[in-house]
Amino acid sequence: MIIVMQPGATKKQLDHLVSRIKKLKLRPWISRGIERTIVGVIGDESVLRTQPLEAFPGVEKVLSILKPYKLVSRDFKKESSVVDIGGVKVGGNKIIVMAGPCSVENKKLLIDIAHKVKKAGATILRGGAFKPRTSPYAFQGLGLKGLKFLAEAREETGLKIVTEIMDVRDMDMILKYADIIQIGARNMQNFNLLREVGKSRKPVLLKRGMANTIKELLMSAEYILAEGNFSVILCERGIRTFEDATRFTLDISAIPVIKSLSHLPVIVDPSHATGKWGLVAPCAKAGIAAGADGLIVEVHPNPEEAFSDGEQSLYPENFALLMKEVGKVAEAVGREI
Ligand code: PEP
Ligand code: MN
Repeated sequence: MIIVMQPGATKKQLDHLVSRIKKLKLRPWISRGIERTIVGVIGDESVLRTQPLEAFPGVEKVLSILKPYKLVSRDFKKESSVVDIGGVKVGGNKIIVMAGPCSVENKKLLIDIAHKVKKAGATILRGGAFKPRTSPYAFQGLGLKGLKFLAEAREETGLKIVTEIMDVRDMDMILKYADIIQIGARNMQNFNLLREVGKSRKPVLLKRGMANTIKELLMSAEYILAEGNFSVILCERGIRTFEDATRFTLDISAIPVIKSLSHLPVIVDPSHATGKWGLVAPCAKAGIAAGADGLIVEVHPNPEEAFSDGEQSLYPENFALLMKEVGKVAEAVGREI
């Protein structure tokens, strides 16, 4: 923590502050500049958090150099974490790909896609049974029926299942069917939901909110870890910017930034980030080149008829091509797929 004194702060004011710091068994480090004096505080700074330091006479501002998130931070854990989903490991050397339709529409279609994405190299099937839609009149998902179809697809193919939770009241139901619980962009700061998935021991895919900073994403992950669930995978899925050529703007630099700040695995969603199927493969490759541990990609056998996000869904053949291209990039950056 750094305490910046006002330009005209007196010696008496400084001594008063320093004596309080010492009383708390912390070490003050005083740096006297031409304009003002700065006090660096060394020791367990968390005890200072409870002190209203800015109320001290002569203090201008207090800057915390302690990161607000702890358990998700690389300071807390140096080695990268690997999230194990029944043998499928996210965060190791192998790039993990989750693929499937935006929404679960019907059983036949889901199982057909599951076989195709598996053949192309995906190990996790995605599909929303509860859909966060901008319009209340748009398709909202099949609910429990959709979860049951996902479980049947898992049974048939051996793929693991990732599906979104929107409401804490659906927790038990989703826990029963999903291998990974997805928290979508719109719920990244639904703190009750974060706490609830944190109480479970189910792996969580936490997507970055479209208008949230990396720090806020890490704080949201902290909620989950603070409840004891360390199996969290982060996802960069594009953020809102002034650019309107794409649905969102894929924040590629978020990947190395998150990797430097946190030990948690990070994947990229090039489908929601771009909103355009033709941009999915280039952005998927960029994500892997930037150090992502995996991808989540929307695939549909007939995007024109998709109940949601057809514009950004890949035909299975194009998904298979993407996998080949991503494989080359993965190899170039020392990863396997
Ligand atoms: C999704 O993955 O189905 C989804 C709705 O994504 P996001 O929360 O990133 O918009
Ligand atoms: Mn979608």
